[in-house]
Amino acid sequence: MSEFSRIDIKFLAGVGSKRAEILKKEAGIATYEDLLYYFPYKYIDRSKIFKICEIDGNFPYIQIEGEIISFEEVGTGRTKRLSAIFSDGTGTIELVWFQGAKYITDRYHLRTKYTVFGKPAQYGSKISIAHPEIDKADSIAERQHTLQGFYSTTELMKRKFINSKAISKLVENIFKGLKVPIFETISSDVVKQCNLVNINEALRNIHFPKSNEALQKASFRLKFEELFYIQLNILRYMKLREQSLNGFKFVRIADNVNRFYKECLPFDLTGAQKRVIKEIRADLGSGKQMNRLLQGDVGSGKTLVAIMSMLIAADNGYQACIMAPTEILATQHFENIKRLLSKIDINIALLTGSTKKSERDNIDKGLRDGSINFIVGTHALIEDNVVFKNLGLVIVDEQHRFGVVQRSKLWKKNSQPPHVLVMTATPIPRTLAMTLYGDLDVSIIDELPPGRKPISTILRFDSGADRMYDGIRKQIEAGRQVYIVYPLIKESEKSDLKNLEEGYEYIKTLFREYKVCMVHGKMKASEKEEEMQKFVSGDAKIMVATTVIEVGVDVPNASVMVIENAERFGLAQLHQLRGRVGRGAEQSYCILKTSHKLSSESRKRLDIMCKTNDGFEIAEADLKLRGPGDMEGTQQSGIAFKLKIANITKDAQILQLARDCANNILDNDPDLSLPEHHILRIRLDKLFKRIVNFGLVG
Ligand code: ADP
Ligand code: MG
Repeated sequence: MSEFSRIDIKFLAGVGSKRAEILKKEAGIATYEDLLYYFPYKYIDRSKIFKICEIDGNFPYIQIEGEIISFEEVGTGRTKRLSAIFSDGTGTIELVWFQGAKYITDRYHLRTKYTVFGKPAQYGSKISIAHPEIDKADSIAERQHTLQGFYSTTELMKRKFINSKAISKLVENIFKGLKVPIFETISSDVVKQCNLVNINEALRNIHFPKSNEALQKASFRLKFEELFYIQLNILRYMKLREQSLNGFKFVRIADNVNRFYKECLPFDLTGAQKRVIKEIRADLGSGKQMNRLLQGDVGSGKTLVAIMSMLIAADNGYQACIMAPTEILATQHFENIKRLLSKIDINIALLTGSTKKSERDNIDKGLRDGSINFIVGTHALIEDNVVFKNLGLVIVDEQHRFGVVQRSKLWKKNSQPPHVLVMTATPIPRTLAMTLYGDLDVSIIDELPPGRKPISTILRFDSGADRMYDGIRKQIEAGRQVYIVYPLIKESEKSDLKNLEEGYEYIKTLFREYKVCMVHGKMKASEKEEEMQKFVSGDAKIMVATTVIEVGVDVPNASVMVIENAERFGLAQLHQLRGRVGRGAEQSYCILKTSHKLSSESRKRLDIMCKTNDGFEIAEADLKLRGPGDMEGTQQSGIAFKLKIANITKDAQILQLARDCANNILDNDPDLSLPEHHILRIRLDKLFKRIVNFGLVG
């Protein structure tokens, strides 16, 4: 894309330095190219106007034309909102705003003809549209494109008047200012071979589609491009590693493994655990470096698999480490593993950000001279000053906090890269796994240890809160602990935090006789750890928290989880959260709390949660329920990159095409040194700069 791509967005007509800052911070748009690659997330056919009498809650985004009959402010506190009755002569519909009432009433007038866009929702017989987009009716005719793109914007952007329409205008300004065509971003052999439209046509039509067909072609080309470069990057990595690296060969199964298996295992391994350990053993003995992803639902017993693998390393004279995303988790693993290995002659240490200097010096020494066999820690482990005598195996728990970059840092901790096992509880569909971890083999634990009582999941409306609190009190009296979780999303951060804090105060007064702690992501790390520790130690009976607890807190004594505003969470996230209970022997409960107002889609989601505890079943239902273009899935699995246009679940074929194509190219030209691939190399380096720099060769 050349020079043009690097022009700072502030120089674009209609931007300037203030707005540039907002665009950068809120949407990651720093250059012209960033804006060109900021694609609409949906399109609306503006030639079609619906009649109110034909609409129900199942309609997608629609457009209606009519007048506002009245404005009224209703509700109080959190439910306060502005409601307008809108009529087109065939019926009425309610328009609702939860913020900005004054702005709306100043700006829009009664008895004036408007066009309204939005997604209708149905409550009983009433149909309403929340935060609709409103235009003067007659200005529609002036629009040249029948398919209008909609861009996502944050609350802050909207407040500064950078709404979807404004973005569309800015994109238009870029095209207006173009003197020469935009440079191609994919080599011409690929463009030809895969039958792609050129980049100019693609970018113009993705923003301003001339027709449905042109939009399809543009979207195909851009999805392909996105997936192609991801595959090219992953495969390049994989091939480099295959060519240049042998792995340590762990052939011995000796004392440590045998004694652990015979004397220390507190229970029989499940069939799935056995199978997975076999797969790992085969990798470790193969002479190739292992890079394996271990998927297993929460509570499926991944830790045990980790321990067995570490013991194999020890039997072969190598050190092993296990890395967790937080101090709390690292400490828990450490204690757990230490306890399980107490009868075995293994020296195990813990290293986190708060390890004391003197202790730290001992650890450094022990790692260098090999007297420490296993170390458990946080990302402190990947620091350059942590040096091992002979590191043979690295285990990364709950991978979604660790990207490829960190992983590759670990590869350098020995003369040959150690084996790597990444463990995750997020069930990832095959296509997604291929895109994200194309360089990892996958093992799955698809069986829970016997004797677990399935978590009982219940839907409760806010009106049933008193009864719910009675139930909670009984559980605490019986010695159990309780999580209460609040949503926190970026767009409504302030009011979410307020909800959380109000909730905390309320719970404290309601349960005066017990200690209550609170954890959220905005706290300082040390404060957070301290609050968490109160709960882990059993001191606090109730933890009020945001989704920061999603990853791996293990308190088997916690038997109740209340999820407030459950309708605002995605399915994957609800499942992940729920996995925090049901870890002990007691019957556990997950209470999904919502207001009475529930869209039919939310209802479906919550019903699935009540129906099943199976993570894979939930992941599948989730895929089916999600609308096109929704990227919740990729975001939730915490991937290092975000897809702008491709959809992993829907674009599996394009993904396969992109992967095959990338594979072919690398087979013939592994380091992309042919002149016709120059363009690919430049683009690849640009897109994955940081990651490529950590590459093993060079
Ligand atoms: P996760 O896969 O979520 O990391 P853990 O490894 O923490 O799960 O295991 C969850 C609980 O199940 C732990 O208390 C562990 O001791 C127990 N567990 C693991 N494997 C078995 C098994 N085969 N039989 C019985 N309990 C098991
Ligand atoms: Mg775990």
